[in-house]
Formats: sequence, structure tokens, C-alpha cells
Amino acid sequence: MKKLKRFILVGGPASGKGTQGRYLSDTFRLETLSTGALLRREIENCTALGRRAQSYMDQAKLVPDEVVNDIVRTWLADADDSSWILDGYPRTVAQAETLDNFLSQRGLGIDVVVWMDVSRKLIEQRILQRRECSSCNFVVQNSTLEICPKCGGTMTTRKDDNIDAFAKRWKDFESMTLPVARYYESRGLVVKISVTEEREACDVSRELSEKLNVYAESKD
Ligand code: ADP
Repeated sequence: MKKLKRFILVGGPASGKGTQGRYLSDTFRLETLSTGALLRREIENCTALGRRAQSYMDQAKLVPDEVVNDIVRTWLADADDSSWILDGYPRTVAQAETLDNFLSQRGLGIDVVVWMDVSRKLIEQRILQRRECSSCNFVVQNSTLEICPKCGGTMTTRKDDNIDAFAKRWKDFESMTLPVARYYESRGLVVKISVTEEREACDVSRELSEKLNVYAESKD
């Protein structure tokens, strides 16, 4: 069975990437890089990079490829043993190509791409309910929760979680990020998970685990 060490998570906004990323990180003992969380932290810390990113994020636009490529490259260069999960990157085919180059120069490749497949309607409902902890990034579907049940931090609604911003993000997702999923699919690297309303996160994790086992065996 192939040992899976380098993961990419692809999915629409609020498709559950963060939650499944935490599950994978616990199960496979891997570090996760969430570009969205990292960019939000830069904004909170008022760094130059944060200021640059903020102007795009406030308009619900993707941050330019070169900005995101830079932070991912720095993070990957520091990552210990070339084992990780990338959540929210790559989000454009140009980013995927940059990542490919970076990895192939080091004799590495991506082991698996988890594609969280979800309908627009479900995501729209979720986004309007979503709150995120400003300290540990824990996410809940409960628009009235004030205190983080994990760390006691303050739960906030993200600025980009509103209906207008959502419409823009979905359009970008369809035109720029779905091609990334297809790019990896054509290389036989994708494990696709259907996310539906009636399924709890733990059911999704169970299916993910089963499918990853089958996938790892097929790659042996
Ligand atoms: P979501 O998956 O709900 O859109 P994220 O936390 O992954 O949220 O990202 C929040 C925002 O950060 C995005 O809408 C985008 O502006 C920016 N961002 C994150 N990752 C990338 C990326 N790989 N390329 C460009 N912009 C990004």
C-alpha cells in the first residue's frame, strides 16, 4: 500500500475542506497549510503581505498567484519532512503548475488530491451560518455562537461570508478552481467525495478514509 504523504484539498468555499483537513492531519499526522487562514493571520498582524492580500479578499477576489505562490513556497521550504496537506492551494491552474515545478525540482510529487464535491445550494446555506474562531480557526455552522468550544476564543463571522461575496467566490471557483481538480483528475490523482446536506462531517471522514485506503492500494 502506498504511503500517502502529500495531500491537496480542493473544494468550493465552505465545502468542508478545513474540517476534513483537520481529520487528515490527525489521522496521517501531517502539518496543514491553509492559505486562507495564513492570509487572514497576515491581515490581523498588519504585515505588508496582509495589506496587499486584504484589498483582494475584501472584494471576495482571489489573491494574485504570485503572492500566494510566494507564501506557499516559503512554507514548503521550511516544512520538515516533505509531508503535508495543502488546504486552499492551488486554486488556479497556474498555481498548480508552479507547485508542480517546485516539487519536481526536489524530486517530489503530490500523492493524492481530495476533491470535496458539493452543490452550490448547500454551500450557500452553509456560508450564511458559518462562524470561525479568531484564535484557532475552528469552524461551526451556528450563526449565534460567541465563544469557541475548542479554545475559548472569540467566534466571528468572516467578512467574505455574505451572499454577494459568495456569488463572486462561486464564480471564481467554477472558472478557476474546478479546472485544477480536473487537471489532477486527468493525472489519476483524485479521490472524490460527495458532500450532501444529510451527511455529518464524521460520515464524510469515514468515507474519505475508506476511499483513501482503496486509492493507496491501487497505487502500490
Ligand atoms: P474559502 O475556501 O471558504 O473560500 P479560504 O479560507 O480558503 O476560504 O480563503 C479565503 C480567501 O483567501 C479566498 O477567498 C481568497 O481571497 C484568498 N485565498 C486563499 N487561498 C488562495 C489561493 N490559493 N489563491 C488565491 N487566493 C486565495
